Amino acid sequence: MRGLMQDWPLLCHRIIEHAAAVHGTQEVVTRSVEGPIHRTNYAEIRNRALKVSQCLDRDRIKLGDRVATIAWNTWRHLEAWYGIMGIGAICHTVNPRLFPEQIAWIINHAEDRVVMTDLTFIPILEKIADKLPSVERYIVFTDKAHMPQTTLKNAIAYEDWIAQADGNFKWKTFDENTAAAMCYTSGTTGDPKGVLYSHRSNVLHALMANSGDSLGANATDTMLPVVPLFHANSWGIAFSAPSMGTKLVLPGAKLDGASVYELLDTEKVTHTAGVPTVWLMLLNHIAANNLKLPHLRMVVCGGSAMPRSMIKSFLDMGVQVRHAWGMTEMSPIGTLAALKPPYSEFTGESRLDILQTQGYPPFGVQMKITDDADKELPWDGKTFGRLKVSGPAVSQAYFRVDANILDEEGYFDTGDVATIDKHGYMRITDRSKDVIKSGGEWISSIDLENLAVGHPAVAEAAVIGVYHPKWDERPLLIVQLKQGQSATREDILKFMDGKIAKWWMPDDIVFVDSIPHTATGKILKTALRDQFKTYNFPTAAA
Ligand code: ADP
Repeated sequence: MRGLMQDWPLLCHRIIEHAAAVHGTQEVVTRSVEGPIHRTNYAEIRNRALKVSQCLDRDRIKLGDRVATIAWNTWRHLEAWYGIMGIGAICHTVNPRLFPEQIAWIINHAEDRVVMTDLTFIPILEKIADKLPSVERYIVFTDKAHMPQTTLKNAIAYEDWIAQADGNFKWKTFDENTAAAMCYTSGTTGDPKGVLYSHRSNVLHALMANSGDSLGANATDTMLPVVPLFHANSWGIAFSAPSMGTKLVLPGAKLDGASVYELLDTEKVTHTAGVPTVWLMLLNHIAANNLKLPHLRMVVCGGSAMPRSMIKSFLDMGVQVRHAWGMTEMSPIGTLAALKPPYSEFTGESRLDILQTQGYPPFGVQMKITDDADKELPWDGKTFGRLKVSGPAVSQAYFRVDANILDEEGYFDTGDVATIDKHGYMRITDRSKDVIKSGGEWISSIDLENLAVGHPAVAEAAVIGVYHPKWDERPLLIVQLKQGQSATREDILKFMDGKIAKWWMPDDIVFVDSIPHTATGKILKTALRDQFKTYNFPTAAA
């Protein structure tokens, strides 16, 4: 027997429709790319998003067509999102920090018909435009007064473009499983892969993000997503904030410590979200200028591990932290380290221990850890294995890639290696391609790196597994020393000794002038593995 409830498809534009109806006067404040602070509200955003839909419809953009955005977090970008999705077209957010060839590859793979962009990115696009045959026109998020001369095909200022519409238009309706948005993974290994979100997955993900133990904001709060709209849905905030009527403050192109601080302060922001690099810049600015954060209550931090010292700095200023883990393929929320019983009682260092984990999943994310033979491992907080996930906002395939990416039980392998404790708190110990497999046992490269950077002379450390005739692989520690500082191999080994299991100790240490990084700032281990592929451990002959 079927239930007798209404068939009410979960469509993204219902969110902005709700925001306009119930929270219409709630503000959306932006530091515009042109410079000045711009203020609007959810009712206006909804009205202008409808004009975007109307213009796209008139330009014959149809259900399933891809429309790219390469843009900062601004009110215009948000309007474009809802406008694109509101006719069943697919909003393809492109990461402008990728190399121009990667951007071209991604736009061609997605076959984007329209590109919407900021003034900032016109020069990059002009350089690659002749390699983008599918793109019919460029819409620049600005007005006539700021519109530059450009060679981009059929370029028009966004304000001129939407001025052609009267807004007398209705959102389209379609099945909730229709694709709404796409985002390519950065492709550190191989070509980038297109993750294709559906309306249903985005709406359900927004509901997951809305819980007090998730992003933690509600209608009386003000949220500043420093995390970009092009970084996995800005962690769901572009849907979550309007769905709850949370005031939004959008930072535009300026993500440096001083600019972010100014917005946090003047707009009395209560909640903010971003990657550790951003918080490092903010904390440095605060320390250098002896500032305070009187309004801020919560910093959500994810994308890479949040250092303990950073957690402590925020706590010392009376700001809660919420360490989060996720990935593009998960829309992206996977886990969040809210404190729940019995940990909510913890204080001091043991409280920090829990806040530093990647946290537990909200309802809608299922996790398991497995060994190489796919056998499930216990949730004991010690055993680590491949972290696999399933849920209604987790990928089941990549765009135009004909390969199964799920295991027999329908779980997606995150590529991370983790422990899970009996209360569901997950801790990342490595990426699966980086974990060192020594005599059948696994050694966490991240744990060794974190330990090594604790040595006062070490600027950065990377650990890779190198061939060993007896153990298959053993850890090699690669160290970049701080400028003007010195330390020997023995100094660092002595510093690490006793802090980890004996068999985890690196077999050797090499010193380098610089450690290579990816476009997104992660250590480029493939390059290090290449550089040291003929390396022999001094003790390996034995
Ligand atoms: P990409 O994989 O394309 O670089 P993602 O943003 O999807 O981009 O990255 C997801 C990966 O980032 C995760 O699989 C994990 O390895 C890492 N990551 C994300 N959040 C955290 C975190 N809080 N701690 C440690 N690693 C994290």
